[in-house]
Formats: sequence, structure tokens, C-alpha cells
Amino acid sequence: MILMICEMCGKNVTFVRKVTIEGVSLEVCSECAKFGVESKKEVPKEQAPRPIIAQRLENREKRSRPRDVLEKFDKEDIVEDFAQRIRIARERTGMSQKELAMKINERVTILSKIESAQMRPDEKIIAKLQKELGIVLKERVLEVVAPKESARASLTLADLIKMQK
Ligand SMILES: [Zn+2]
Repeated sequence: MILMICEMCGKNVTFVRKVTIEGVSLEVCSECAKFGVESKKEVPKEQAPRPIIAQRLENREKRSRPRDVLEKFDKEDIVEDFAQRIRIARERTGMSQKELAMKINERVTILSKIESAQMRPDEKIIAKLQKELGIVLKERVLEVVAPKESARASLTLADLIKMQK
């Protein structure tokens, strides 16, 4: 017969119970066990098999999360190197800034500012330049916005609404 010692009263006993007494896990005799709470067999959480329902819910959440957190917008924006594209295309045609400005019915100072990237052409000028020079000045951009950042997101949304009108 194997005798074990109750960790609480020190009695030699044949049987000990694992209990928690005031947060301490002890192996005690059945008498002392009354003072504590029977320890449950604890399985570390990550090893515990998850119920299938919980797994499915989690998967569903994972699938829906990107839509909830990130909004993607397709929009058109002027290319970053518009100034260069306009200048190169104009030079290829052999036109001076003044000549091109006259053709698109804009002031040469405006065209000069656009070609030196000091000014972004508005929609009307973009359209005229694209047509006259046979170039592309707009590109589709994919904008990813996190709605949680409400200040920035709402500004972006407002801008987009404006653009779509
Ligand atoms: Zn005891």
C-alpha cells in the first residue's frame, strides 16, 4: 500500500484529493478536502478541442472581417507625373507652350504652371490635354479606407461622393 501525505494536515493517507484552497493547489486527505474546491482537470486553452460551432462562427467572422474593417474604392485620379507627361507629349508634337495653350483655349501661364507641376489641371483641362496630345492623364486607383478612422474615412467618402456627381 502506498501512503501519501496530506499536504495540509500532514497525515499519511492512502488516497489524496487534488483541491484548491485559497488559490493554492494541494493534494490533501478527504477530511482536508472539505476546506477546498476540487481542482478540475485543466486543459490548456489552446489545446482544448473547440466545439465545431465555435470554429464555424470564427471562420465566418474571419471571412466577413475584411469587408467590415476595410472599404475599397475604385476611383480615377490624375497620374502623379502629369506634368512630365504633358511636357513630353507637347514637345513631341513640336508645339510651344503658347501654341498648345491656344489650341486648348487656356492661358499659357496656366499651362506653364501645369507643366512645372505647380498646379494640378482641373477635369476640363485634363480632358482637353488628353484629347489634344493623345495621352492618358488619369488612372484608376484603389483606395483602401478603414471606416474606424472616422475622421479621415468620412472625408474620403465625402470626396468620393463629390467626385461621382
Ligand atoms: Zn488532511
